[in-house]
Order: sequence, then C-alpha cells, then structure tokens
Amino acid sequence: MNRPAPPASPGGYRGRFAPSPTGPLHAGSLVAALASWLDARAHGGAWLVRIEDVDTPRCVPGADEVILGQLAACGLTPDEPPVWQSQRGHLYQAALDRLLALDGGHRWAYPCACSRADIARAHELAGHPKARHGELVYPGTCRPENGGLHGRPARAWRLRVPDGQAGVITWHDRRLGLQQQALGTAVGDFVVKRADGLWAYQLAVVVDDAEQGITDVVRGEDLTDNTPRQLHLQRLLGLPEPRYLHTPLVNGDNGEKLSKQNGAAALDLTDPARTVRTALMALAASLPGWSPTDGASLSELLASAVAAWRNGLNAR
Ligand code: GLU
Repeated sequence: MNRPAPPASPGGYRGRFAPSPTGPLHAGSLVAALASWLDARAHGGAWLVRIEDVDTPRCVPGADEVILGQLAACGLTPDEPPVWQSQRGHLYQAALDRLLALDGGHRWAYPCACSRADIARAHELAGHPKARHGELVYPGTCRPENGGLHGRPARAWRLRVPDGQAGVITWHDRRLGLQQQALGTAVGDFVVKRADGLWAYQLAVVVDDAEQGITDVVRGEDLTDNTPRQLHLQRLLGLPEPRYLHTPLVNGDNGEKLSKQNGAAALDLTDPARTVRTALMALAASLPGWSPTDGASLSELLASAVAAWRNGLNAR
C-alpha cells in the first residue's frame, strides 16, 4: 500500500484512533475518529490507527479492513501503518513480567482463581459496594495477604489498586476538567490478563499508547472511567502519561447513546461529505466559528474543521 510520509509534528504531538473491530464504524465512532484526527491535525501532529483486536471473541472477521476503508472514505488516513493488538502479545507479556517484578512491599500483580460467581458470592456474604457497568468490585479474595488462591487453580492475573486515599486518582481531562476516581471503591483490583488467556484492554492500551509514543488520547466519553486504571498502570510501569480529551457521545434518534450494542447502523458512505458534515456538527462545541457549508467538498469540510478546531484550542 502507498503510504504518505508522516507530517512534521513540531510539538511532537502523536494521537491515535483505536477502534475495536467488532463491526463497522457507526456515526458515534466516526465522531471519536474525527475528533482525534482534528486534534492531531490542529497540532501539526501525527495521527495513528490501532486496531484493538485483543478481545477476539468479540471481533468480527474483516471488520478491521472495513473500518480502515470507512476512515479512508471519510478522508482520514493514518500517517503510519496501522498496528493490530493481536500481534503485540509479547509487549503485553513483557509489561506483565515487569509488574510481577515490582516490589512495593507487596505484590502488585497476582494470580486470581475467582470466577464471576465466586465474586458475586463474596459480595453477598460481605455486602461490598458494586462497581458501575454491572461489574462487581473485586473483594480481594486472592490477594496474597488474604491467602492467595486458596488451593484453587489460577484463572486470571489481577493488578492491585492501593486501598483508601492512596488509590484516589486525580487527573485533568482537556474537556471535562478535573476528574477523580477512588480506584479501591470504584473498581478494585482489576484484571490485566483474563481467565481465557486474552490480554485485558487496560493493559494493552497502556502498553501501546506508550510504545507508540502517544502524547494525546482523544476518545469517546464512555471510556472516561477507564482512565484512572490506565494512569495507575502508567505510574507503576514508569510510562509517560498522555494528555486526555474525552469527546461527547452521540445519541441516536431514540435518545440512547449510539453503540454497536444497541444496534447503531454502519455509516452511510454514499455521500462521505454529508456523513462527515453530520459528524462535525456533533463536535460543534469544539469548532468555534465553524458552520456546515452546503455543497462543500470533503477536503474543504475537513480543512475548515481543522482551522476551527485550532481556533478552539487557542481560545482555551
Ligand atoms: N478500543 C476501544 C473502543 O473501541 C477504544 C480504546 C481507546 O481509545 O482507548 O472502544
């Protein structure tokens, strides 16, 4: 494939769009893709695409190529060849090995034998608080100081989060401002390698953002509450912390967030300029002075949006 040379990135800016190939892009994912592309272009930086295909049971064969084709049709071509997470297991293993070798007076990463049912039972017995998204906060059953695996076979690897105040992560989001999450009560010790042997999203994304030199993560707001786990991992692994910008989610006509789970339709690309124009309208708050011009070509639309995004940056 013919690939353009990466543009100069004076500030060293490197951004990325990291779709999971669980189906074609829909209107909501195009908004996230455009936001990351606009931010990279407005900074004179490089824009990368990473196919996040670690969760193989959820991946749809061929969806990666469909997504790359949809992006290209919308004028969004990455400045470097895309990478596929499924080919990067050695990097995730090296990070797990480093976590296992860390010594902070206790083991940060430890094997866990608990199934979902075990965790639910422990909650019933102890009445612990629940995490969001229906996922239960891990009660710490297999922490070494609680007796480890209790004679059961290891299933997954978990990463300890500091208890109490030490586990409160405070960070700045470029749109949402100051954010805070108490890892201990909001998520608990989380999985970095799953019981089915697959790498967990949290570990893979942190390793890849660092390995690819990503300076700015721009992604949908639904991912905001993963950021503190990713910061915890970056701090433990001694990796640089990118800046974060979480973009507004797009609601469908029924008022619900657009997602593949609730059946959002694949992008209509019969008229890419019209599709991109609609997606840009969802980002209007970040595009001061921009208005959708009737009849503008795709490249005109994109150029005017880059200029407006840059004005927005200067205005902040
Ligand atoms: N692969 C994730 C998704 O499609 C995005 C990860 C990220 O941008 O950090 O939801």
